[in-house]
Amino acid sequence: MIARTVIRGARHWRTGAMIDVAISGGLIEWVREAGGPAGPGDDAFDAGGAVLAPGLVDLHVHLREPGQSPKETIATGTRAAAAGGFTAVACMPNTHPIVDTPAWVEWVLARARESASCRVLPIAAATLGQKGEQLTEMHALARVGAVAFSDDGHPIASAEVMRRVLEYARPTGCPIVCHEEDPALRGRGQMHEGAVSARLGLRGIPAAAETVMVRRDVELAALTGGRVHLAHLSCAGSFDALRDAKRRGLPVTGETCPHYWTLTDESIGEYDTAAKMNPPLRPAADREATIRAIADGTIDCLATDHAPHTGEEKAQPFEAAPFGIVGLETALALTITGLVRPGHLTLPRALELWTDAPRRVFGLPAVALEAGSPADLVLLDPDAEWTVDPERFHSKGRNTPFAGWTLAGRVRATWCAGTLTHTDVEPAGTPRLGAVPMGIA
Ligand SMILES: [Zn+2]
Repeated sequence: MIARTVIRGARHWRTGAMIDVAISGGLIEWVREAGGPAGPGDDAFDAGGAVLAPGLVDLHVHLREPGQSPKETIATGTRAAAAGGFTAVACMPNTHPIVDTPAWVEWVLARARESASCRVLPIAAATLGQKGEQLTEMHALARVGAVAFSDDGHPIASAEVMRRVLEYARPTGCPIVCHEEDPALRGRGQMHEGAVSARLGLRGIPAAAETVMVRRDVELAALTGGRVHLAHLSCAGSFDALRDAKRRGLPVTGETCPHYWTLTDESIGEYDTAAKMNPPLRPAADREATIRAIADGTIDCLATDHAPHTGEEKAQPFEAAPFGIVGLETALALTITGLVRPGHLTLPRALELWTDAPRRVFGLPAVALEAGSPADLVLLDPDAEWTVDPERFHSKGRNTPFAGWTLAGRVRATWCAGTLTHTDVEPAGTPRLGAVPMGIA
């Protein structure tokens, strides 16, 4: 019988101190200076000097269940999450059917209990069928475990409906996660509207389609006091609007995703559907504005917008292919490669944007490297380089624009609730990947 697992010789993500960490019963039992004697029955895990941090949290993931299991399942999506260093993901309700009733929230949680490799935090729809008309039963949805509400993928066009959504959700304390895009202004756009779309002859989506809705919802947060979380922000005007909201002390937070600080609309090349996403990739000035907004603290946290599709779907002509890319298995490395290595962020700050920061945004319990804290941990080597091979993803989705890229930063192991959910090192014993005893947060 294993009394406890002891992670030996890890580097503390904030202090840099060399530590041993014991985990048992799903919790951190103790944290000590590295090199103490092994206890009888301890299961040692040699960390080899890698960095130990709280497990990453992704507030924006499409797990595609119920109803779209050819794209992804809760089992495969959370297995990909564990491989990426994540111990919790919030999943979007734009499935088939849409998660807009307490029964479907309970279904997602039950499915997670039997098949997930990380904690699953369901986001329920804000309006029935994500039609932007009638509100969902948000109080009942929150009672059974919804952590936020969103019509992600189907922006709420009516300002009056959005006002009522914010007012009705307010007593639940849950944020409204806003996919900001004016549907009329977007029209049938396929990519960012600019010089590249003109050259390719593709219909464009102007940056203003995003910023007018961001500005609207900032004003509605001011009107109602409801909590607005701005999803996957992609352009300079949106960051300016978020800055203004913060200056006014409004209950508005925002996230952005690795592709917006890594790529531009030029990445579409000759109609590459792996670079087709929504919001679309923007020009270099917006990419630079994204990095500035992360570095100066305007952005509250990072998220992937992990959106798996089948190979057949993405193999269609550009205009027929769906929007979205996978992100869970490349997020940490893109953060280290694109933000830490060039000096925009320190490693602790970059990790904070994936750990403490998203937990704060959704009001989830904190995880710290101290006794009594949940043993949700990631062990990572920030200097290890690897080449992205989509065929090796745990996700069913292979739709990434980063295939063949060499990135820095590799996940060595992940524990969720004390269970080893991913490892790429061979510990002394046989690695036992276990089912995670799942509960909310
Ligand atoms: Zn979205």
